[in-house]
Amino acid sequence: MSNIQKTLSIIKPDAVERNLSEEIKNEFKINNFNILKEKKVKITKSEAEKFYQVHQTKPFYNDLCDYLSSGPIVVMILEKDDAVLENRKLMGATDPKKAEEGTLRKKFGISIDKNSVHGSDSIENAKQEIEFFFKD
Ligand code: UDP
Ligand code: MG
Repeated sequence: MSNIQKTLSIIKPDAVERNLSEEIKNEFKINNFNILKEKKVKITKSEAEKFYQVHQTKPFYNDLCDYLSSGPIVVMILEKDDAVLENRKLMGATDPKKAEEGTLRKKFGISIDKNSVHGSDSIENAKQEIEFFFKD
């Protein structure tokens, strides 16, 4: 049975800065994700703080919010069967050093903080994150 879902993906500043956006978008396409919507934006620190609210007690929260607001990002709504889990699999582990061969973070990530991509971790968070970036 099909289980079509939407999830939010972000190409983070380190990857946009290295002109990897097209290559990463192509990875989604060849892995059968439909890119339903996409836009390049630069968010403010306070928007980043809102987006990463769940991490507000973590020691890396402030740096993470500085980082996500440090340069342009590409945000996308991806659609596929089991999109949330499938995107997490394609991204690989948070730390590129621990990410599996062939994953986006293994291929493109620089470090645990500059790990090139974000992906929603649950259907509920996917809905909230899509709403956050694509209200209109
Ligand atoms: N992060 C970090 N240091 C850490 C853990 C996470 O800088 O020790 C950053 C990293 O960029 C990660 C983001 O915070 O992508 C959100 O962390 P999470 O645990 O949700 O990882 P993800 O869901 O992105 O794999
Ligand atoms: Mg997460």
